[in-house]
Amino acid sequence: MNISSAIFDRSALDLDSCPDESLPEFAFIGRSNVGKSSLLNFLAGKRDLALVSRTPGLTKLISFYTMNGSWRLVDLPGYGYAQAARHAQVRFNEAVNNYLQNRANLHYVFALIDSGLPPQPIDVEFVEWLASTGIPFILVFTKIDKVAAAKVQAHIAAFKARLFETCGLAPTSLTCSATGRLGRAELLSVIEEAIAKA
Ligand code: GDP
Repeated sequence: MNISSAIFDRSALDLDSCPDESLPEFAFIGRSNVGKSSLLNFLAGKRDLALVSRTPGLTKLISFYTMNGSWRLVDLPGYGYAQAARHAQVRFNEAVNNYLQNRANLHYVFALIDSGLPPQPIDVEFVEWLASTGIPFILVFTKIDKVAAAKVQAHIAAFKARLFETCGLAPTSLTCSATGRLGRAELLSVIEEAIAKA
């Protein structure tokens, strides 16, 4: 898919402020620093599309971008641990929770995982939670240029093994590097196919 236009629609603080559900949406989520802004800019072919996530104080907003006038790319705030919880728990803001669980036009969530790191419990826990909701999702391993290819493969294999062990999951996964300009066509074709099927 060619991206001919990528236009910022709005940033929303809650589900009520989101745009109408007329266009298919594809949401991106990951821990801070996973490379989400870089990936969104790379996908859109714009250097500064995902400015919002880098703006202090606006990181809790859900940002919508209309692509080619026909679908939306959705930038979700990241997640973190609730330190005070007796059992470590993935926690993210209420708006994201509401968005993920109530958005009829949400086609896929792309869960971003840093391929330069061994499986991080917080990411595993988030993906397990995502799976439990029944929302269709795809893992996207980012920054594959950062460490040696063998290490990237080992981290991906370990992450998938963890998911399989803990909940029998074997989700689809993609790899990308915004810096190395890799994985864009594959990601966009997943989106294109989902739109065609809708
Ligand atoms: P965000 O916090 O998830 O939005 O992450 P950013 O896109 O701001 O990136 C966080 C850091 O990782 C920045 O220093 C980026 O330059 C770096 N980064 C992002 N994508 C890549 C990548 O594909 N490869 C490498 N090596 N670094 C990246």
